[in-house]
Amino acid sequence: MNIVLLGIQGSGKGSLVLNIQSVMDITLISTGQLLRDEVATGSPLGKHINEMQVSGRLVELNTVMRVIDNKLHSKTKDTVIFDGFPRNIEQLRALDKVCNVDKVIYLKLSKEVAIDRIVNRLTCKDCGYITSKLMYNSDICPNCGGKLVMRSDDTIEGVNIRFKVYEDETLPLVEVYRKRGILYEIDASRTMEEIFESVMKVIK
Ligand code: AMP
Repeated sequence: MNIVLLGIQGSGKGSLVLNIQSVMDITLISTGQLLRDEVATGSPLGKHINEMQVSGRLVELNTVMRVIDNKLHSKTKDTVIFDGFPRNIEQLRALDKVCNVDKVIYLKLSKEVAIDRIVNRLTCKDCGYITSKLMYNSDICPNCGGKLVMRSDDTIEGVNIRFKVYEDETLPLVEVYRKRGILYEIDASRTMEEIFESVMKVIK
């Protein structure tokens, strides 16, 4: 089964996939993280990706498809979850060529709540655990003991550009998938436990 996760930055996609991974075996294709992994290698491509990420712009389709193809070819689990992909209609068409999307989970959240979550977000460099400065007053990850950091693109300026890209390019995908009859809308303003419960019902 191939599942796409859609939702504005801060809607909880990253935390949700970590929760799903704790209860079921999945192949996770998180393009933002896969691209950050390339940045961490320090390669010329990584340096270019970093510029795009810090400025909030989308990385070119061929680069994104390369990381996706690599992951799909090495996949070991039957359930694949795409997090952060597709992000525009061009990517949606590219995804249709490589696999059949069975379900799309749309985490719906207002821009106001999303921005509040993002500017307070702390992410673990080692395990990807996500928490909030408002709830947790330390830079040590409670999940793995690694270091909690702010993402370099989680600035007000970066977030505003990413929101604009989301509204202009990603949000229209909701209607495309709704018309296909595979869209499941989830209220992402609730607690992560409630969101997780609703999402697991959709997956099962
Ligand atoms: P995310 O971790 O999903 O918030 O993504 C962070 C950044 O990585 C985005 O602002 C883009 O620069 C880049 N990125 C992630 N996914 C994609 C994608 N599907 N297409 C193009 N760029 C992406």
